[in-house]
Amino acid sequence: MRQPSIDLGGASNPAFSLKPCLEKWLPDMLILRMTFPVQFVSASVLTCRHRFCKACLKDSWETQGSGDSHYCLLCWCRSSMDQIVVSSALEKTCESFKVDRSKNDPEACEEHGEKFTLFCLEDLEPICGLCGKGAAHTGHRLYPIGEGAHDCKEELKSALLPLKEKLQVYKKAKTACEDMAEHIKSQAEHTETQIKDEFEALHIFLKEQEAARLSALKAEKELKNLEVNHRFEDMNHEIASLSNTIRLVEKEMNSKDVLFLKNYKETIRRTWQTPLEPQNVPGALIDVAKHLGSLKFRVWEKMKNIVKYNPVILDPNTAASCFILSEDLTVVQNSTQIFKLPDNLERFDINMDRGKVTFYDPRERAPLYTFTGIISPRAFPYFCSACKEHPLKILPTRILLSMD
Ligand SMILES: [Zn+2]
Ligand SMILES: [Zn+2]
Ligand SMILES: [Zn+2]
Ligand SMILES: [Zn+2]
Repeated sequence: MRQPSIDLGGASNPAFSLKPCLEKWLPDMLILRMTFPVQFVSASVLTCRHRFCKACLKDSWETQGSGDSHYCLLCWCRSSMDQIVVSSALEKTCESFKVDRSKNDPEACEEHGEKFTLFCLEDLEPICGLCGKGAAHTGHRLYPIGEGAHDCKEELKSALLPLKEKLQVYKKAKTACEDMAEHIKSQAEHTETQIKDEFEALHIFLKEQEAARLSALKAEKELKNLEVNHRFEDMNHEIASLSNTIRLVEKEMNSKDVLFLKNYKETIRRTWQTPLEPQNVPGALIDVAKHLGSLKFRVWEKMKNIVKYNPVILDPNTAASCFILSEDLTVVQNSTQIFKLPDNLERFDINMDRGKVTFYDPRERAPLYTFTGIISPRAFPYFCSACKEHPLKILPTRILLSMD
């Protein structure tokens, strides 16, 4: 017996069409019911050894008449239903084909090999018609696959809505984040420049202080040198004068007696001119203590003139987008321009400190208004200016240096 052909490539195999197999049967070949998808109900062999799909054969015989005896569709030998032998080899081949087919077909039931045609609402999965009749889905709501897919898509559409909204929110937040990164970059650059400028001012101040002190030292050194040189001159003069007197007197003393005595009156008068003791003037030395004493402190004290202390600093991270702040963060002015600023949290955060905040008139120190009942842990005063011509200024306080 030749093996039945089971190479059922569907429409690609010219021997089989998608129509029921009986309309296109071929001699000596397995006649199969070829609806799409392929369905094997059962394979059977007639007494004449011709092989047919049992379901197709039954259909055909029903159209032949209602009697018990029927004829083989190929050789017209007499045969009947009870004579049909089910070919177990063929059956197995068909079974394994069904299994293979369903494994390769994601749209077919693995258990029954049939196409999924229903959707079970309880199990939320597609099932085949045979599954639908099985005990596993008893009492379950089953819908045709198309209807199920439509409803599920509708359900997913509404489930996607909040996700899509969240996606938009995240995209927006990401853009804000990119802006923030740009802002951070420019903040860092600007702040770096400011720090360098501030230190440059301090460096210049210190260099000037150093130069002033060095030049004061130099001036004192020159003055003291001048005084010393004057004294040198005076002393040289005295030394010369005394030496001269001594020399003259001694010379007279070596003269002959008569001559010596003749000049004696004048000689003795010379010795009467007693010069003063060499003078030791005060303050002859350089006043090192004056130059070095508490040098750093005195420089620091002088620094008061270039240092400002502002008890309140305006935080640019909290400024509204219409404000311009001064470089030292003490002056705020309302601008006609609107600046692009990141929506950082601090810009909208107002906190309070000890339960109350009081505002004073700065000149009289008279309280203007006190806010009480503030329960937030930290307090930051909030300033606002609507005037575009006159800025709001935070005045520096007086700096006092005190020592114990
Ligand atoms: Zn036959
Ligand atoms: Zn099934
Ligand atoms: Zn079910
Ligand atoms: Zn004004």
